[in-house]
Amino acid sequence: MLRVTICLIALIAPCLTAWPQDGEGAPDRVQFAPTRSVDGFDMPVGKPDAVGYYRSRGLIVGRHMGDDWNGAAGGNTDLGAPVYCTAHGLVVFARDARMGWGKTVIVRHAYWENRKWNYVDSFYTHMHQIFVREGQQVRRGQLVGSIGTNRGMYVAHLHFEIRKNLRIGVNQGSYRKDLSNYYKPYDFILGRRNIAGGNRRVQVPINTFRLQARVVDEMGKARSAPENPRETPPARRGDFKVNRFGDPLR
Ligand SMILES: [Zn+2]
Repeated sequence: MLRVTICLIALIAPCLTAWPQDGEGAPDRVQFAPTRSVDGFDMPVGKPDAVGYYRSRGLIVGRHMGDDWNGAAGGNTDLGAPVYCTAHGLVVFARDARMGWGKTVIVRHAYWENRKWNYVDSFYTHMHQIFVREGQQVRRGQLVGSIGTNRGMYVAHLHFEIRKNLRIGVNQGSYRKDLSNYYKPYDFILGRRNIAGGNRRVQVPINTFRLQARVVDEMGKARSAPENPRETPPARRGDFKVNRFGDPLR
């Protein structure tokens, strides 16, 4: 029994030490869920290389923390076009965030780099439709939604981010808009098209930001969040501290 316990600690310890426990917005208790490790990242439109799309904007520190992808034909010709998951991972948010974002999906990824597991969130927003649910396991290239206008607020495009800080969620206003919290998505993906150590069962932190209403208890199986407000604070007015985030108006 002692040997089994020691083995379990040895398995879990790397996950625990890789995830810092302090910081603004940190949950009271970090939980973990299994997912499939990343074998490489693809572009989120025109998979896998964004064929037929162009970036109308990239990351601008302090203002615009992601890439805007537009169809090559311009205007709203890309309305309803498919949005693909950049890599294997776990859906930790899939709902309408309203205001400046609209229909939004966040996928959590684990990838092996520099001899350790690293975690990022991919963020897809302003979408017309959402095709995944929170707690779902998704694969690289899987359909997660379609390109939208956020109720006519913008010319149709995909706003796409890669976050290194897993606490941001839809509370961007609480975190510095700089490269300590975000990657430049295009550069991040280009440098990681193929990654060793993919397709393994790994653990990722979950319930790291507010309004993450489901937890996952086994691969691919989500259950409703427990009533305990320490784990999942209820949604309330003012939780979404979003604004236009510099995206161009139509
Ligand atoms: Zn944008």
